[in-house]
Amino acid sequence: MSGLADVQARIAAAAEAAGREPGSVTLVAVSKVQPADRIEAVLEAGHRIFGENRVQEAQGRWPNLRAHYDGVSLHLVGPLQTNKVRQAVGIFDVIQSVDRPKLARKLADAFTETGQPLPCYVQVNTGEEAQKAGILPADADCFIAECRQLGLPLEGLMCIPPLDEEPAPHFALLKKVAIRNGLPGLSMGMSADFETAIAFGATVVRIGSAVFGARAQQDR
Ligand SMILES: *Cc1c(COP(=O)(O)O)cnc(C)c1O
Repeated sequence: MSGLADVQARIAAAAEAAGREPGSVTLVAVSKVQPADRIEAVLEAGHRIFGENRVQEAQGRWPNLRAHYDGVSLHLVGPLQTNKVRQAVGIFDVIQSVDRPKLARKLADAFTETGQPLPCYVQVNTGEEAQKAGILPADADCFIAECRQLGLPLEGLMCIPPLDEEPAPHFALLKKVAIRNGLPGLSMGMSADFETAIAFGATVVRIGSAVFGARAQQDR
């Protein structure tokens, strides 16, 4: 699986260049829209941490894949509607897209029901883009405090920088917000910019096309 091996080597090199342990960066292989054979090849190569951005798509294929491969960890990296929280909590292991009070409350309720709280990341809209999910940077401290009050197990922050901008300032901003809130996790960096993200302290990189190959649908 050359895409996977190549990305793993590049992550290790970027970590080393930043004076960090290669093991300090977790690769989430974002499998949205990818055909089953590509996903199975990555599973066969031994990788177990995956990301999906839609609840329904994840539900369609991961129960079956989990039955065949032990130890899968599935991260939700896309926006979550409150009416899909129960389903999401049933299929995912980590929620990376906590971005508004109503969703935080629904997640807290769902965790109380299942008795199994899932690690969560707060998504920050660092570019303040109207069409993009995420809490605005100015509201992040308050929202993080609210999530903690609700008992959500917060691991860190997540961001998706604007497509048409240098990602570095966005990574730096996310790190600043994480540090002042005492959050260790930084989910940032995709196929085009993960080495920069690692230089800025990413602990989780979410990589799709560089691992699996280009997606058939370019809009996602
Ligand atoms: C699709 C997606 C990725 C991976 O994108 P690539 O550019 O293919 O690496 C990462 N994060 C999120 C939130 C995504 O939706």
